[in-house]
Amino acid sequence: MSPSQRETRPRDWWRRLTPCAAAAVTAFLLLPAGLASALPPRAQAAAIPQSAQPADAAALNEQEIENARAALAGIVQEETVAGAPPEALERVHEKLRRAFPRAFSQLRAERIGTSLLLEWTGRSPGAPWMLLAHLDVVPVENDTAQNWAHPPFSGKIAAGAIWGRGTLDDKASAVGILAAIESLLADGYVPRRTLLVGLGGDEETGGTGGAAQVAATLRQRGIAPEFLLDEGYAVIDGSIVGVKPPVAMIGLAEKGYLTLRLQARAEGGHSSMPPPHSAIGRLARAVVRLEEAPLPSRLAEPMRSGLAALAPHMSGVQGLALRAMWLTSPLVRHLLEGKPATAAQIRTTTAVTMIAGGVAENVLPEEATATVNFRLLPGDTADGVIHHVRRVVDDDAIEIEIATAASREPTRVSSTEGLGWDALSQAIATVFPEAVIAPGLTLGGTDAKHFEGVARQVYRFVPMRLAPGDLPRVHGLDERIPLASFDEFPAFYSNLIQAVDERSSDAAP
Ligand SMILES: [Zn+2]
Repeated sequence: MSPSQRETRPRDWWRRLTPCAAAAVTAFLLLPAGLASALPPRAQAAAIPQSAQPADAAALNEQEIENARAALAGIVQEETVAGAPPEALERVHEKLRRAFPRAFSQLRAERIGTSLLLEWTGRSPGAPWMLLAHLDVVPVENDTAQNWAHPPFSGKIAAGAIWGRGTLDDKASAVGILAAIESLLADGYVPRRTLLVGLGGDEETGGTGGAAQVAATLRQRGIAPEFLLDEGYAVIDGSIVGVKPPVAMIGLAEKGYLTLRLQARAEGGHSSMPPPHSAIGRLARAVVRLEEAPLPSRLAEPMRSGLAALAPHMSGVQGLALRAMWLTSPLVRHLLEGKPATAAQIRTTTAVTMIAGGVAENVLPEEATATVNFRLLPGDTADGVIHHVRRVVDDDAIEIEIATAASREPTRVSSTEGLGWDALSQAIATVFPEAVIAPGLTLGGTDAKHFEGVARQVYRFVPMRLAPGDLPRVHGLDERIPLASFDEFPAFYSNLIQAVDERSSDAAP
């Protein structure tokens, strides 16, 4: 956390947090019905690979489930918000060690920055794979804590749910992964492929103190995970217009991030003798030009495959349009452009977020500045966006510069073929057999972004059922996870571990 962040009140820096699950999921919420039918059949990349899968192998016994629930409730009580004393995170680690003694004694554990890195060494010498989760949470604004049904850091188990900040994002994943490993160890399971588990401690503020350092460490050691799974999407139920079955959406890529500062300068002076345009007028014209010339939209991957996967399950006009994408692609694009949530899926977005200029009502400003935030579609680049801005603003008197160190290019789009995708699809089909699997684009940032160029494929999915009413709880009021939903976490990760091993050989890398 930077000094400037420390000085601001929690209320302010809360708004700057990188939203992860929430932003990712809302993107698909208002998908206009009728989109899915327009895709060519060969684009339907999300087919579930066929495999003989022992679905019962992953079951945890009653005591293990109780233990996992208690562990989640216990770590929710630790207020691991940004800026909290480091002891909060230490206590979470200690509680996890106590709850999962086999995992912590039989796996190699090391501390890297705010992250805990565990290695469960497999018997095959091949490349490892990796699971990520994070143990930090966003804060609860002081004046809202009293509105919670149960105090936000109580970890209370009531009304069939575990209550508190972090239950949905993302402590349940961390506990689910460890509970799965603990249970497999109790059964004497030995993995074929080495599994790495990274539990971050600062994801919500960028992950530079945790996940980024783990990624750097792996790079330094020459370790390139075959694939990595982090948060990002979930099993979305009832939120996508026209699609009846729940959708297990897997993020294949993350958008990039760029903030530019536009600055107009002018001669100051008295407002009684103004020139035709002040610095503010000049800047305002630039801002209007930018908003009127958004970057072009395109139906690129992973949106294209996502729509193709949804098409067969979408009813109405939208379903028809999506099933004939070869014909209706312009219409589909037009429909998607119509709503901010879906438009963000198909273009680099432009958001003018701050403006400043002027010191007194009768003084001509010498400068005026606007801040514009862009979220880059995979395939676009920061250089390309800057070029676009210069061309559209078309005014040499406007200086354009990068305003933040947080800039990053969009990630690559991961494959819908190969070990990671196949194992993931298999585990989803086992635990959520009614769900349609669809690729998606993650709009918010996750820790996974730091593994670009380190892990060969990166997927973003948590095994959590999210109903429309759950979305405001992520980073919001009354965050809680139903027990039945939480119980599926360890089952999913256990299935996934076994699916990876089934699909790996003892010798091949
Ligand atoms: Zn998160």
